[in-house]
Amino acid sequence: MAQAEAIPHNRPLITPADRAAVDAVLASGWIAQGPEVLALEASFDALYGGGGSCALSSGTAALFLALKTLGMGPGKRVAVPTYACSALLNAVYMAGAEPWIADVEAEDFNIDPGAVERAAGGRKPDAIIAVHSYGARADVAALKAVGGAVIEDCCQSLGGAADGGNIGNDGDAAVFSFYATKIVACGHGGLMRDPDGRLADAARDYREFDQRESYEERFNLHMSDIEAAMARSQMSRLGDLADRRRATAARYLESLPAGIDAAAGVGDAGRMVYRFVLRFADSETRDRARAALAARGIEVIVPLERYELLHRYLGLDPAEFPVAENIVDTTLSLPVFPALTDAQVDRICAALATLEC
Ligand SMILES: *Cc1c(COP(=O)(O)O)cnc(C)c1O
Repeated sequence: MAQAEAIPHNRPLITPADRAAVDAVLASGWIAQGPEVLALEASFDALYGGGGSCALSSGTAALFLALKTLGMGPGKRVAVPTYACSALLNAVYMAGAEPWIADVEAEDFNIDPGAVERAAGGRKPDAIIAVHSYGARADVAALKAVGGAVIEDCCQSLGGAADGGNIGNDGDAAVFSFYATKIVACGHGGLMRDPDGRLADAARDYREFDQRESYEERFNLHMSDIEAAMARSQMSRLGDLADRRRATAARYLESLPAGIDAAAGVGDAGRMVYRFVLRFADSETRDRARAALAARGIEVIVPLERYELLHRYLGLDPAEFPVAENIVDTTLSLPVFPALTDAQVDRICAALATLEC
């Protein structure tokens, strides 16, 4: 029997409607920031029931401007989870603030409010970046109680809702990414928003660098209308994108043999399943499962490797971050992107059923 074609870990789902939206922009002759960007911002205000949104060139730019418009700069301390991508650290440094690295919670991989307090050594952070990791809602209320402004990083939770409404309305600001691997993917792009629109207005002022009457530090962080048209086309079927991911996750949960666990909460109603993560007892079991799935042509990844942990980049003592150090040893991420065909999902389910713990 011929070897079945390999299933990649992630691929964007680009529909004829997405292509038509891009084509319309190309035909219009207006390809830079313009009406499509405005409409994308309006679609976020509609999703969140008001506030203000500012579309930007990337999720990192959105983090940077959330920090900047909240007044984070030299002398300010920003708590960030160690289990997160380096973009968080880049944004904090770009704003000129000082990062405080905190460990995460074992269950949902989100920043641990208790660890923020420990990292702060009795002082309050000026801001906290709360990533809703892989779609799992971070406890914004508990983080607010620690002190400081809370920036919700919704790059992996756009389209997630359930109890408490859409994720991203509880903090002082929220940021999103439209990078190629994200839930809504148009190449590059990002957006920051806040519930009353004051920060979004300040971000817009920073973004509009050209032909201003007075000079202030501003920067070209524009998203183009080509990108925005593609993002907007996908935003219009965000519910379908979320449903498809959830339906695939439900199939995987049914297929897992006893003794092999998925990350907590991945089957919860309304949950965005950005990643479907398996948890293993130790790295040997995890590596065996990874090899078994790879042998069946299924590309699985360790969603974040040890060397990527932010405390490792900064040379901090790993013993202070035991939870994140354990997560990188015991996790695997399965393909769960909406472009997976039913036949591919069936193949992954069949492979999961053969896993040994
Ligand atoms: C992707 C991502 C970012 C950065 O977004 P870019 O658009 O790649 O700059 C930030 N935070 C999280 C949690 C992300 O997943």
